[in-house]
Amino acid sequence: MCETLLPAIADDADPSGLLATGAGAAGTAERVERLIAQLQDPLDLTRLRRLLAALGSPLANLMTGGPFAALDAMDPARREATLRSWATSAIPLRRAGFQALKRLAHVAFYCWPSSAAGNGDHPAWRAAGYPGPLPPPARAVEALPAVAIARDTVLDCDAVVVGSGAGGGVVAGVLAAAGRSVVVLEKGPNPGGREFTQVEGDMLNALYLDGGLLMSQSGSMPILAGSCVGGGTTVNYTTSFPLPEPARAEWDRLSGLGLFSGPAFRAATGRVSARLGVGTRWTTPGARDVLLERGCRALGWHVDVIPRNVTDCREGLECGYCTYGCRHGAKNSTARTYLADAVAAGARLVPRCDAGRIVTERGRAAGVEATALGPDGAPHRLVVRAPVVVAACGAVNTPALLVRSGLGGPAVGRGLRLHPASAVVGVFPERVEPWSGGLQTRYSDQLADLDGGYGVKFETAPVHYALPASGFGWASARQFKDDVRRLGNLSIVGVLLRDRDAGRVATSRAGRARVHYELSSFDVGHVRAGLKGAAQVLAAAGATEVFSLHTPPARARPGEPAWLDRFMAQCDARGYRRCRMSYISFHQMASTAMGRDPRRSVVGETGESHAVRGLFVADGGAFPTSSGVNPMITIMAIADTVAHAILAGA
Ligand SMILES: Cc1cc2nc3c(=O)[nH]c(=O)nc-3n(C[C@H](O)[C@H](O)[C@H](O)COP(=O)(O)OP(=O)(O)OC[C@H]3O[C@@H](n4cnc5c(N)ncnc54)[C@H](O)[C@@H]3O)c2cc1C
Repeated sequence: MCETLLPAIADDADPSGLLATGAGAAGTAERVERLIAQLQDPLDLTRLRRLLAALGSPLANLMTGGPFAALDAMDPARREATLRSWATSAIPLRRAGFQALKRLAHVAFYCWPSSAAGNGDHPAWRAAGYPGPLPPPARAVEALPAVAIARDTVLDCDAVVVGSGAGGGVVAGVLAAAGRSVVVLEKGPNPGGREFTQVEGDMLNALYLDGGLLMSQSGSMPILAGSCVGGGTTVNYTTSFPLPEPARAEWDRLSGLGLFSGPAFRAATGRVSARLGVGTRWTTPGARDVLLERGCRALGWHVDVIPRNVTDCREGLECGYCTYGCRHGAKNSTARTYLADAVAAGARLVPRCDAGRIVTERGRAAGVEATALGPDGAPHRLVVRAPVVVAACGAVNTPALLVRSGLGGPAVGRGLRLHPASAVVGVFPERVEPWSGGLQTRYSDQLADLDGGYGVKFETAPVHYALPASGFGWASARQFKDDVRRLGNLSIVGVLLRDRDAGRVATSRAGRARVHYELSSFDVGHVRAGLKGAAQVLAAAGATEVFSLHTPPARARPGEPAWLDRFMAQCDARGYRRCRMSYISFHQMASTAMGRDPRRSVVGETGESHAVRGLFVADGGAFPTSSGVNPMITIMAIADTVAHAILAGA
């Protein structure tokens, strides 16, 4: 498989050696094996095994129009044709299988220095002029002081917070500052700035949920979320929008609560924005955002500056790497703000600690049972006894925690929104270096309200190699490498969908969260409009070629007759669902919604569970629906509201 997706291609006109470097020389198959060994869900392994068995079966290949031969017995051209037939198959499972293998092989190949290049280099990086990991700074931000659990332990406190991300961090900070004794349990590690090595593969593995390999069950939606101290706020793009007024009104209507349009929520938003230092001072646009702005202005479209939660941000080249952690501490993540406040006020932070179950006594929350890894990596049982339990594991994992604890009600896991994001890529004559520049500094809401407040936002994001490896469309090994080779001259316009229609989080018998999510026709209509708009923006900014994230990519050259119609006709012919086009979810929301009605929501206005007193939810899951803006500030405002309700004795 790896040799088919990444063969050595002879080409004298490629001095970087990228084309000539195949998977074998780069040690790709061995890395893929290691990635497979890290898959968290046994079902993923079963599926992969079945997929490889099918590709290795002569009969299965004959039945899909290929020769009566196993994949590894075919000549290279046949193997590639077989993969192409899977990539574009009418059967969604085959397309999903192809995408899973393609993603694994390409991430393994591109996201670590290549053993073929030596010296920590990579032929793809050389080809594009990508500097790879930058030299470590003279002074890097320190990790937070944390509690080591070296034996089975019982802790007592006023409140135990599970998850240290946007929601959990704020609750911990507010409660501890008010004098409550707080324990924070965080499944991920507690990295200091020196551990942000900027080697993409290692950082995905260390800082992201399930090593960045989490997918929806149909294989059509990779789900990216932080999993370390600070959660998503450690790895995110620092975009700090408040919840827009129309969404506040809509949420109040749908939830039956008066919270979101009221003055208390406005005050909470103000408090968290102030603590995070949200502002527009460090918003110098990198080349990606210059192009986004130029394209929008040329079209006469809306474009504006993104407020960010940073202080003394270095911007430029350095900032583009901060999606793998900001080594300078300029990013005001919860680790740098609320959790630091909490620890300074005496809160105990326990990293590498996986909460298994919430304990209840007589219908009230009584604590959490967890497994903590000791300094030597050995697991220990940790019981935290507390009359207040705050679930803040993020919208994917909080429903599973509730279900594992026997606290799943009718609405737990329902309502999941993902803000699916795709993009159009533009090829520019000038260098863009899309890995560089402030993480996100410009956006456009030109198509944000296509129907009743639903539509798409345009934003860019830093592009290193994980996004192309995972998201670029595939037609052949040669085409894929040719697209990646030009990375230094590529820019993207990201299309971030405000999804109206929901998926759900189910929980396996072993207690694992499984995401079920497919786009509805309503939402697909907006994705389509977004792709068309993004292509127009790139063209207006001077792109000489645009391509989509379809497999195979839709392509057009702006300026040629009817280029946009032809581009959209190709997009339409390929379709937008179930592994026809790449998406990523950066924002998971609304799986344990706030609301008045216990049949349709999980928690009330204070974040307290309808079913169990003393149990609160304070993460993206509490949203009534999708926010339509990057959700961090809204999650924090909800968490601040929850924390103040706890202090008031809710
Ligand atoms: C690459 C990227 C870029 C983003 N950019 C932006 C942006 O610019 N602006 C914005 O507004 N949003 C952005 N987001 C989204 C934003 O960061 C998240 O929506 C937000 O952090 C979610 O907050 P949360 O509290 O719901 O969960 P998280 O921040 O994800 O925190 C949940 C934490 O709980 C931990 N956890 C889970 N299960 C357990 C368990 N059983 N026991 C103990 N701990 C557990 C996890 O490890 C994690 O650390 C981005 C996200 C990503 C991935």
